Parts: sequence; C-alpha cells; structure tokens
Amino acid sequence: LSFDQMGIKDDLLRGIYGYGFEKPSAIQQRAVRPIIEGRDVIAQAQSGTGKTSMIALTVCQLVDTSSREVQALILSPTRELASQTEKVVLAIGSYINIQAHACIGGKSVGEDIRQLEYGVQVVSGTPGRVCDMIKRRTLRTRAIKLLILDESDEMLSRGFKDQIYDVYRYLPPELQVVLISATLPNEILEMTNKFMTDPVRILV
Ligand code: AMP
Repeated sequence: LSFDQMGIKDDLLRGIYGYGFEKPSAIQQRAVRPIIEGRDVIAQAQSGTGKTSMIALTVCQLVDTSSREVQALILSPTRELASQTEKVVLAIGSYINIQAHACIGGKSVGEDIRQLEYGVQVVSGTPGRVCDMIKRRTLRTRAIKLLILDESDEMLSRGFKDQIYDVYRYLPPELQVVLISATLPNEILEMTNKFMTDPVRILV
C-alpha cells in the first residue's frame, strides 16, 4: 500500500512527500486507513516505528481546517514528545493550513491562552497541563472528535491515570479514540474498555 492509495487528501500528500517520506512504515500501512475511516484503534507499537508521523497524518486528514475549534487532542507522557508531535503535525500539514499548539508544563500559561484563543484545530500536550487548561475553560472541548493517547503505558507509569480519566470526562460522547502503547497491561485494557467501541487491534 502506498500513501496515494490510502484516501489521503492531495494537499496532505504533498506535505508527506515534501517531508521526505516515500512509502508508509508498517504501522502506517495498517493503522492509517482504519483511523481515517473513523474506527477506534489500539496500536501496540514502540517509538521509532513511525507512530508520530502516523498520528500527524491521520490528525491532518481528519480535522476541518476551515474551523478554528480544537478537534483533535493528542496526549503524550513527556513535554518533549508532545512538542515533537506538534512539530510533525505542522510540518506534514504545511499545505493544509493547519493550526496546532503544544500544551505542556514549563511553558507560560499566558502563551497557551493566547494560542488557544486565536484558535487551533490540534492540541498536543501532557495530561496535567491539558487538564488544567480544560478546567480553566481556556481549552474548549466541545468540537473535539478525536483523542489520541500516545505511549499510554508510559503515561500510566508517570502517574497520569487520573488526569487522563479527568480529561476524558470533559470530551463529547461521540469521540473517536486511538490508543498507542508499547505494552498492554491490565490498566491499559481497562482504559480501552471504558473509552473505546469495537476497536481495531494492530500489533507492529
Ligand atoms: P516515529 O516513530 O514517528 O518517531 O518515527 C521514527 C523515525 O522514522 C523519524 O525520524 C521519522 O521521521 C521516520 N519516519 C516515520 N515514518 C516514515 C516513513 N514512512 N518513511 C520514512 N521515514 C519515516
């Protein structure tokens, strides 16, 4: 399967090829299609497999760039990963005029407020800061249709479980959820049961 055969919009394909990718990695081959078709997906994958680009490309495909409301929320265990994901979204989405913001601890809250009020379609953040921004009503959740939980096992081992559940409670009921994790311990399976409907399972 090539990127051209995945039902990806033209301006996004330009961004993918422009970023230097020629052919999809294994996880991209298997996960992109079900995600852009709207399915919930559990992907068991490590870093280095192309998962960040998979997230970026599906998010870019699914958000409506004519609206300035937040439609996709990506949660990551670390500030570095959350920033990296935001950068890849902006790079791959450079021809579709996508707006993204990294909502991470250690950066000024004022900057979060400014960016979120300006309007972005994608927020990539750590659970603590995202939860805080939602509770302050700076991050509006009503148009969010896609939640991506990246490195989920790592988020749990860093103690973010309660914040992830807190965030989830603020999201609309018609929500598509993609969960990525290197391992699938019981606590992760509990999350998939609570958050997901008839998920597609992918092991790479
Ligand atoms: P990731 O797991 O997304 O962090 O990707 C690991 C590395 O592989 C990064 O340097 C990506 O830029 C690169 N990469 C991801 N997908 C592809 C692809 N389809 N073709 C070539 N390189 C890729």
